[in-house]
Amino acid sequence: MRAIRLYDTATREVRPLEPRDPGKVGIYACGPTVYARVHVGNARPFVVFSQLKRFLEHEGLDVTFVANITDINDKIYDAAQAAGRPSAELAEEMIAHYLADTERLGLGRPDHEPLASETVGPIIDLIQALVDGDHAYAVDGDVYFRVRSLGGYGALSRRDVDQMDQGEGVEGADRKEDPLDFALWKATKEGEDTSWDAPWGAGRPGWHIECSAMAEELLGLDFDIHGGGIDLVFPHHENEAAQTEAGRGKPLARTWMHNGMLQLPDASKMSKSVGNIRGLGEVLDEVGGEALVLYFSGGHYRQPILFTDERLEEAVRAAARIREAGRRVGPGESPAQLRPLRDAFFDALADDFNTARALAALYDWIREANKLPGEVGGADLREMLDVLGLASLLEGEDGPPAEAVSLAERRAAAREARDWAEADRLRDELRAMGWEVRDGPQGPELVPAG
Ligand SMILES: [Zn+2]
Repeated sequence: MRAIRLYDTATREVRPLEPRDPGKVGIYACGPTVYARVHVGNARPFVVFSQLKRFLEHEGLDVTFVANITDINDKIYDAAQAAGRPSAELAEEMIAHYLADTERLGLGRPDHEPLASETVGPIIDLIQALVDGDHAYAVDGDVYFRVRSLGGYGALSRRDVDQMDQGEGVEGADRKEDPLDFALWKATKEGEDTSWDAPWGAGRPGWHIECSAMAEELLGLDFDIHGGGIDLVFPHHENEAAQTEAGRGKPLARTWMHNGMLQLPDASKMSKSVGNIRGLGEVLDEVGGEALVLYFSGGHYRQPILFTDERLEEAVRAAARIREAGRRVGPGESPAQLRPLRDAFFDALADDFNTARALAALYDWIREANKLPGEVGGADLREMLDVLGLASLLEGEDGPPAEAVSLAERRAAAREARDWAEADRLRDELRAMGWEVRDGPQGPELVPAG
């Protein structure tokens, strides 16, 4: 097995992965809050940590990957109320969309996808331990974490305690001992249509506590890798770490891994409040799962990644190039002279999971394979693509690939808009991919270019 090193946000260092239980790795990544359909940015952590699991399994480790779904939250109550619907029904519908949309990425599912609404028992247990240990206090049916009761608070995000804002606004301000404290349990309020019984009264969990409780339930304490978007470091992950440390006397996780955000050309962040959302399902309709996974894999997971039509198009072309290479390779072992490129691919993944460098090695492998006479065995290519969740690019298919369909649709739209130059450009791109549009009995259809 290769020595695997990962960047740890807590120590700001690239450190060797040293599993708590030899041969086994537990990964927990914070999932979506289901108040609307997920946007394409929500897919990044799903892709990063699904691929990380695949890579670690390739290296012989037994991986358990947990990605939660937050189905109790203020945003869900607000959205349900605005739509005049029960909050549980809205959440259930958005969970179904999330599962269907992420399924289309072709990366498989996490081993566990716990719901907050199904973890209320363990959540109450953990809050009780915090109250018993004087790290939390109940006021009028709410329970708050006493931030200054824990010496190391702020270590993960490296923030000065006096400069912090939990982002809870005025909510509970008159009940908190200290503005820095945050909610573990919230008493039922007007307009909330779900609640659970607890020793402090009917209510529902705050957001941060669910992850501490779920991770402990499914992975135990001091598990290996806690992941999520970089925007979650504070307050969410700082609070998760604090709750577990204070309630259990042990760290929550050994390594904290954070992925960068999607960046739009004007440097803004994709968010509902800015109104620049691109739905995951919508982008998948446009380019297909393989191209989208390739798009994400083209950047180092820690860096922000630019989200533009050009970048997506590049990924579509890359997917087509790999398919093309797949048609040329044969079954069986790959030639020994290509081995160093295959090794470079896996070494890049072992070095802080550098998928961008790994992909470069994969493209080098294809280029060198193309120079060899005769049919080249494709075992290396299959092995590399499988770890990225892209082995489907090598599967023979009856119809045109998703990338060609997407180009043909865009060409039709360009023609409709009388943008002939764009339509011609897309036609040429289609031909380069080996496909062309011809008029068939049911209207235009894609056929292999002749
Ligand atoms: Zn979380």
